[in-house]
Amino acid sequence: ENGSFFVALSKVLRERGERSVISDEKRSMSGVQLLEGAERWASGLASLGVKAGDRVAVQAEKSLEIVQLYLATLRMGAVYLPLNDGYRPSEVEYFLSDAEPAVFVCSPDNASSYADMNVTIATLDGAGGGSLADTVAGQNPHVPLSHVGGNDLAAIIYTSGTTGRSKGAMITHANLLSNANALIAAWGVSRQDVLIHALPLFHIHGLFVALNVLMLAGGEIRLLPAFDCSKVVRKLPGATMFMGVPTYYTRLLDDRGLNRTTAGDMRLFICGSAPLTPATFDAFAKKTGHRILERYGMSECGIICSNPLVGARQPGAVGRPLDGVTVRIADGKDIGVLEVTGSNVFAGYWRQPEKTRAEFRDDGFFVTGDIASIDEDGVVRIVGRDKDMIIAGGLNVYPKEIETLVDLLPGVGESAVIGLPHPDFGEAVAAVIRPVPSSNLDGDKIIEALRPQLAGFKLPKAVFVVDELPRNAMGKVQKAQLRATYAGWFA
Ligand code: ATP
Ligand code: MG
Repeated sequence: ENGSFFVALSKVLRERGERSVISDEKRSMSGVQLLEGAERWASGLASLGVKAGDRVAVQAEKSLEIVQLYLATLRMGAVYLPLNDGYRPSEVEYFLSDAEPAVFVCSPDNASSYADMNVTIATLDGAGGGSLADTVAGQNPHVPLSHVGGNDLAAIIYTSGTTGRSKGAMITHANLLSNANALIAAWGVSRQDVLIHALPLFHIHGLFVALNVLMLAGGEIRLLPAFDCSKVVRKLPGATMFMGVPTYYTRLLDDRGLNRTTAGDMRLFICGSAPLTPATFDAFAKKTGHRILERYGMSECGIICSNPLVGARQPGAVGRPLDGVTVRIADGKDIGVLEVTGSNVFAGYWRQPEKTRAEFRDDGFFVTGDIASIDEDGVVRIVGRDKDMIIAGGLNVYPKEIETLVDLLPGVGESAVIGLPHPDFGEAVAAVIRPVPSSNLDGDKIIEALRPQLAGFKLPKAVFVVDELPRNAMGKVQKAQLRATYAGWFA
């Protein structure tokens, strides 16, 4: 074992032989075909001048080809750099100039937008065609396997940019291998598993959690181009696993095809990327008989904590740290910033040594920026982000505590509690609420209903009713955007 994620994976894929390991809606590939594909795509990249250590930036639709491109990059010791396919060319330019990739793979529709950038462009479309596919097709697939060690970079994952400008998290082969193995053990993933893959491939959730884990376990992956409620429900029979963000689950709950029978072959529904509300957890259990398994992670660390496969899955909690991962609350407090160490923790932020230093403690723990508590059984609860914490009249207010109460009020669909600048209190609490369809919410009544349950400094001083909470592609509520929208309210 030389620590390369690709070498470990190639053993599994070779053992799978002619069995299907991945399919999209039209084609399927066996383990051997996927390995050969990785080799062919690696020679295609090499012919474009890509070498070990070079970044391969990719902004393209989900396809079997993009999976081969990803594996090819790992195989040759280059660094995979996926980009959100919703980013516009003006946004992508920041990532290209920051990461300086040897090649940028984009959709043929966008290629002309980058003609002026100093980067080699290759194209790949959703059907697997494009200039890169043409280059690959003409290649002799016999390229020697690069020697890659555990400490070599496998990927740069740009964070979601929820709290500020996206940072490039440098992920090593050892990070990928240890996290995938820990998750296979924690979730009992095996060759019998069949995963419905509806997540995007540009964040760790779809790429490292869903794809890496199922491939390394020798299971089978069924790719959907994107999340589509009725397609997911139709694919449930014959599948054993599904992974999603909380909004996927709330939408699935609204689908009339979801029930105990359609979900009857399923072994595990897993959720993460943003907090799952206890109401969604309960409603899903009632409808399907499945208790959603919630886990917690981030670009910098992969998955950190997970609810158990066997034993109580607690709504509102993210479970215990995975094997090989240690967590603590900063400065020994009961509630505070969660810090992490372990083989899952990244190698630092790309070309940001000061930022990297600032986010690591002297003893090597990484400062997550999430506020949490840990109970006597070691179970972790995330109560929000450090940057979302509200300081009202000098007192700390954790938005989650208030959101949990607001969400229980009749007529409330979901809520986001934020702090807004206030002349007397410094910050005052405000609640932004999306009502359930056809309910008439009255802000004053909401505040009155909360008054007996909350100390004055925690009580929302304003309630805003909206049609939708602003979310990014991973279903994360964009609180910074809400704070900007209502910034002047109390001024
Ligand atoms: P940025 O770091 O650029 O502000 P981001 O933190 O949203 O963006 P990601 O790395 O994609 O970027 O997301 C990780 C974050 O997602 C975690 O730090 C945490 O706040 C949140 N998260 C993930 N899973 C959960 C969960 N189960 N419950 C609550 N929060 C979660
Ligand atoms: Mg973050």
